[in-house]
Amino acid sequence: MTTEIDAIRTAILQGAPADELGALPLPAGVRGALVKASEQEMFAGMASEDKDPRTSVHVEDFPLPELAPDEAVVAVMASSINFNTVWTSIFEPLPTFGFLKRLGKESVWGARHDQPFHVMGSDAAGVVLRVGSAVRSWKPGDTVTVHCNYLDDQDPTAHDDSMLATNQRIWGFESNYGGLADLAIVKANQIMPKPAHLTWEEAAVNALCNSTSYRMIVSPNGSQMTQGQSVLVWGATGGIGAYACQYVLNGGGTPVGVVSSESRATLLNEMGVESVIDRRAEGYKFWRSDTEQDPAEWRRLGKKIRELNGGRDVDIVFEHPGRSTLGASVFVAKRGGMIITCAATSGFMIEYDNRYLWMNLKTLKGCHFANYREAWEANRAVCEGKVHPTLSKVYSLDQTGEAALAVHRNEAEGKVGVLCLAPEEGLGVTDPEMRERLLPQITLFRRHAG
Ligand code: NAP
Repeated sequence: MTTEIDAIRTAILQGAPADELGALPLPAGVRGALVKASEQEMFAGMASEDKDPRTSVHVEDFPLPELAPDEAVVAVMASSINFNTVWTSIFEPLPTFGFLKRLGKESVWGARHDQPFHVMGSDAAGVVLRVGSAVRSWKPGDTVTVHCNYLDDQDPTAHDDSMLATNQRIWGFESNYGGLADLAIVKANQIMPKPAHLTWEEAAVNALCNSTSYRMIVSPNGSQMTQGQSVLVWGATGGIGAYACQYVLNGGGTPVGVVSSESRATLLNEMGVESVIDRRAEGYKFWRSDTEQDPAEWRRLGKKIRELNGGRDVDIVFEHPGRSTLGASVFVAKRGGMIITCAATSGFMIEYDNRYLWMNLKTLKGCHFANYREAWEANRAVCEGKVHPTLSKVYSLDQTGEAALAVHRNEAEGKVGVLCLAPEEGLGVTDPEMRERLLPQITLFRRHAG
């Protein structure tokens, strides 16, 4: 650790005033979790499940770039593993260096991102240390979280709904200098206030998954669920699923949660989700072979949903496993219902029976992360204690590869946190009374993980 980083960490832990934090010298080299362009072929020919992020992720120093006028340097106290960390670290579906190259061609500032290394990470909680000359709303000393919608606000297509911008990117996945580092470079319009009642690691895990689920469930850009509707949530204790369940419950809807173990079913019940399907115990086999699906299995799932859901089909399906489930999802949504999808973890070449979609007037809708306003509203729900972090396990930055492997292998519940500058768990809370009041909900996933 450099003396500059040590001084930054000490000043934050001692609650140094803003002017002191803003005057601290920044190091030339910063520790971060990164993959290397020279290694992007290392897993060639291997099956996805055999690709091990522990061999591709390096935690080492990288040179800190010059700050653009609309950016800030954030001292990252904690970050999180997202599934995009897994994609980056196993170079699937393609290496991320192509994204960095394209960004590099866009502008002088974009060129900083085109490097032979990629510092990963699309979440962060920490303290602003420096702001560029065009930053108005944030200053050194602000305690913040960071969302990952990275866009060019001079592009006309970035206005209205910024997720429709032609060159919209995900920070730390399609851009460099992400959150899995001691210092991160972020655009000012990625910054949001840190929830005062949460620790650094609890605050760091929400932005990406929480905002995605907000858009999918609550926003008019997603399914805009209304009171009394029911939602089938795949992976209901996973990164995005556990936030989706919270939004369905908060909005007066009924989640039907799908998980793959008894222990996860219990966790769902503790969250207040009463209708639970254990997909492993049920033994669904939607694909008979690599090329043929089994509609009888879709019907079996539909029957189970009706049993749990007062005889009704679901209004909305929260879909992300992709190839393995989408055929079933299209089948089980009610007549006129919506299947909203943001991913394809099990494969992106999808097959479903279109007759069930058009004859029953269903909608299949794509959804991706969230615009600033949606991320802000989702963050506000966390700040107000209406949505809770789903942190189940915490790793150190040095263990990023191991943490990514746990997510890759579907071994972790909810979210996995990573300590960067925070020397231990439990720090960063500035509203202990609110924390005390909400402690059982805040720590539910952590307690469950044991
Ligand atoms: P996660 O924490 O690994 O959770 C996903 C859950 O899905 C798993 O816990 C698993 O739950 C379930 N699942 C996995 N494979 C399945 C399959 N073949 N069939 C049925 N269920 C399966 O991941 P996440 O953070 O929730 O992310 C899920 C996907 O969404 C990833 O592909 C990620 O890249 C994507 N994503 C996209 C966006 C976006 O903005 N577009 C944002 C966030 C995430 P059970 O085993 O318990 O059923």
